[in-house]
Amino acid sequence: MKHEVLEVIREVCVLREKKAAPAAIPVFKLRGMGKQIARHLARLEIFSLQDLLLHLPARYQDRTHIQPIRQLVPGDAAVIEGVIKNVIAPPRGRTKLMCELQDDTGMMRLRFFHVLPFQASVLRPGARLRCYSEVRIGPQGWEMVHPEFQVISENRPPPVDSHLTPIYPATEGLSQYMLRKLTLHALQTMDQETVLDEILPDSLLQTLAFPTLKEALWFVHRPPRETLVSVLQDNKTIPQKRLVFEELLAHRISLLQIKKTFQSRQGVPLLKHEKLTCSFLAQLPFQLTAAQARVSREIQQDLIRAHPMLRLVQGDVGSGKTVIAALAMLQAVESGFQAAMMAPTELLAEQHYRVFRKWMEPLGVNVAFLSGHVKARARNAVLKSVNTGDAHIILGTHALFQEEVDFAALALIVVDEQHRFGVHQRALFRKKGMQAENCPHQLVMTATPIPRTLAMSFYADLDSSVIDELPPGRTPVMTSVVASGRRDEVVARIREACQEGRQAYWVCPLIEESEVIACQAATKTADDLKSLLPMLKIGLIHGRMNPEQKDKVMRAFQQGEIQLLVATTVIEVGVDVPNASVMIIENAERLGLSQLHQLRGRVGRGAAASHCVLFYQQPLSDLARERLAVMRETTDGFRIAQRDLELRGPGEVLGTRQTGDLSFRVADLIRDSELLPQVHRAAEIMMSAHQDKIPALLRRWFGEKSEYESV
Ligand code: ADP
Ligand code: MG
Repeated sequence: MKHEVLEVIREVCVLREKKAAPAAIPVFKLRGMGKQIARHLARLEIFSLQDLLLHLPARYQDRTHIQPIRQLVPGDAAVIEGVIKNVIAPPRGRTKLMCELQDDTGMMRLRFFHVLPFQASVLRPGARLRCYSEVRIGPQGWEMVHPEFQVISENRPPPVDSHLTPIYPATEGLSQYMLRKLTLHALQTMDQETVLDEILPDSLLQTLAFPTLKEALWFVHRPPRETLVSVLQDNKTIPQKRLVFEELLAHRISLLQIKKTFQSRQGVPLLKHEKLTCSFLAQLPFQLTAAQARVSREIQQDLIRAHPMLRLVQGDVGSGKTVIAALAMLQAVESGFQAAMMAPTELLAEQHYRVFRKWMEPLGVNVAFLSGHVKARARNAVLKSVNTGDAHIILGTHALFQEEVDFAALALIVVDEQHRFGVHQRALFRKKGMQAENCPHQLVMTATPIPRTLAMSFYADLDSSVIDELPPGRTPVMTSVVASGRRDEVVARIREACQEGRQAYWVCPLIEESEVIACQAATKTADDLKSLLPMLKIGLIHGRMNPEQKDKVMRAFQQGEIQLLVATTVIEVGVDVPNASVMIIENAERLGLSQLHQLRGRVGRGAAASHCVLFYQQPLSDLARERLAVMRETTDGFRIAQRDLELRGPGEVLGTRQTGDLSFRVADLIRDSELLPQVHRAAEIMMSAHQDKIPALLRRWFGEKSEYESV
């Protein structure tokens, strides 16, 4: 899911026109800024004054009043002030030191493991100290370990802080003290220069009762002393929301603009959708569910328009997305055009090919297949039929969108399981579409459910349809979480199930980073199982087999000639064998919840009650235990996605530093989701009444990210 969200944003950025460079004040123009500090700041991706001011505190401390020692409780962080009564000096050459500090109400030990000589020289009996740290229970009572301290004079004590103390995300070599100094300079500079000026219209600020950007920035970097730390920490103050709001607004508007651009392109109206689609539906062994019929109608209506469709179909694993794709593709064929569907894996593309041939050949529709593994003569023949228009429906992997593939009349592109495609592949296929004189319609299908909050924000540029219903007659998969030590019991259960005529998967996930090792693990497991279960027909499939071998194994499994299929995660997406009703997943604790959900979705497709066993290695961390419990409790993909997000935290879902630029700077979709309705409304207002302000807004939040262009 993480990648999916990233890709969408990246894609957005690819399409966004490059705007002029922002009038930013480089951070090195600030007072007190040396080269060394600028280098440290660069590591935090702070290059401009604006970057520095949008590098918000991670938390706050209240150092605005001095607390009596007596009133403290372990766990409190506090400022105390007192006189050193006693120093337990370090033995010669050591740097340890402990002193006892007394105020009018009690005594506190200050423990230092490392004092520098100049510190040791001021920590003497009689010295008056002001300290800040957390109170802990030490071996001899309450203590502070390595408190921040200053020696003060009794007659002229310096004033305590007048605002709460910000604690910034830092990096080695850059102290909090330095960051505080820099942000103060930055705030003062901001007030004098024309940076970070207000963009949002007054009327909007008034309606929402928001302060200006500058006021908000002063507040978050230097909150007034009466502000509640806990409210700040939850990001619930108005000025904090004001900042988040602006960032979310910029995102929303950029997505809406892309949609507008896309919709202004000329599309291919696909007007006929009667004969072929009707015969197709008539020959299907089942009726569409109400949800399928609704989504299919939505697509049908998009396709008849002269503007390109850009629609996302979300439907949980097994909800029946393939039929929806087939119907849309037939509408293109019937109108005299071609349609192509791209699948993320060879295995899935081949399965589509098998299914489509069965469906389409009786209708007289020609289906072609192309992947990187189709070689030489066969490949040339396919390319030719695509080019002449003999091939009506073309299925395959991303090989479909390489240079030499030249479609005669492509009018619809379907991307199946789009979250599995890499950024490059998606950018490529979209470009291919855009180059055409008439932009093909695009249908994007995904089984990875995205929590609503994310979906609304990230897919604003796509229309979306949800298949919120499974075909009838399915029984939910029962899931058990089992320690890997109890393998024998599970093996016995598999034997029973297979002897009753059911089929099973045994999945050996990628444990090491290497596919070779994963395949070895699967091969070994298959061998072990063959000797434990000599009466069963056991097959093996993994990513290093060639397409013919894989195809042969999958066919055999489909036809029931293989009872137990040992596999790597190659079967994760799309594989559809309704008679398989048992799934064993090894090392389940190492897989993400979405991946487990996808794998488990391979069973529970027929009428028989299905079972999934999640094997884990002990010891299990609390988090892992909780994640596996989620799998046991629900089979609802949307709930699993939501829990995944909560357990992992949005930082991880959206990608963090290592994946680059795409996480929000100040917003957090889960935490701030309550703002979204207002953001959406404001985006409409901005686009209709304040177009002139939009370029500056987008530049402020995305302007410098030129690497988007290179994707
Ligand atoms: P997914 O949404 O995971 O891609 P598929 O399209 O592979 O799901 O469909 C899963 C299975 O359900 C297939 O075997 C398909 O033939 C079957 N199926 C799809 N729609 C229906 C329906 N309306 N009634 C019964 N079975 C259906
Ligand atoms: Mg599918």
